[in-house]
Amino acid sequence: MTGNRLPVIFFGHGSPMNAIESNEYSQSWKQIGESLQKPKAVLCISAHWVTHGLAVTAAEKPRTIHDFMGFPKELFEFQYPASGSLELANRTIESLSPRPVDLDTRWGLDHGTWSVLRWLFPDADVPVVQLSIDHNLSFEEHYALGQNLRSLRDEDILVIGSGNIVHNLSMAAWDVKSYAWAVRYDEQVKYWILAEDHESIIHYEKHGPDAAFAVSSKEHYIPLLYVLGAATPGEKVQFFTEDVMAGSISMRGVRIG
Ligand code: ZN
Repeated sequence: MTGNRLPVIFFGHGSPMNAIESNEYSQSWKQIGESLQKPKAVLCISAHWVTHGLAVTAAEKPRTIHDFMGFPKELFEFQYPASGSLELANRTIESLSPRPVDLDTRWGLDHGTWSVLRWLFPDADVPVVQLSIDHNLSFEEHYALGQNLRSLRDEDILVIGSGNIVHNLSMAAWDVKSYAWAVRYDEQVKYWILAEDHESIIHYEKHGPDAAFAVSSKEHYIPLLYVLGAATPGEKVQFFTEDVMAGSISMRGVRIG
């Protein structure tokens, strides 16, 4: 224990190419890494690990998973050799008790995790554990699990979520900067985060067609619920990236604390 509470951070990860491209997003992630004291370990909730029942990664050397298609060879060859942490995996299970959580040695680090962490901790010298997204749970339940993770922040653990607040791949268009509905919903969520109105974010389905288009793939929205759950009222909020790209993908990043 250090006595310092670490921030909790949501990353809008966007394209896997951000892992190897130096651009405004990856550079801001690098700056975040430079601004942090090096944590004991990272716990990441990534949009790209959706399971039936909860699981945490328990491999000593988690593999780098290239869970995408149609990208350059360089990206498929990229390795992020961070260690796992059985200690953090077990601590996570303990904090989510009495919910059962499996120790999983088959998964590893997916691109939602390593495309961001390779900029935060380029030397891969911080152990990493992923917590899966159980698709059976409601948004309230995901938020409540985030609340259970709050205490890890006092134990030198960096808790991060990696997804995209607005993520609608069927409407994505590379020649469109941003659709009006995508910008409206992204800014609405920004407003709710600043107002600490997490209820409105959890119950997105009450907010009409903008929200329905924006949250078309729930797994990219859910990591935000963990981050908000792990925040405490009155903490400082910082948006380190604010952008909608390819029409329908919000790259907003949120640092709390
Ligand atoms: Zn993604």
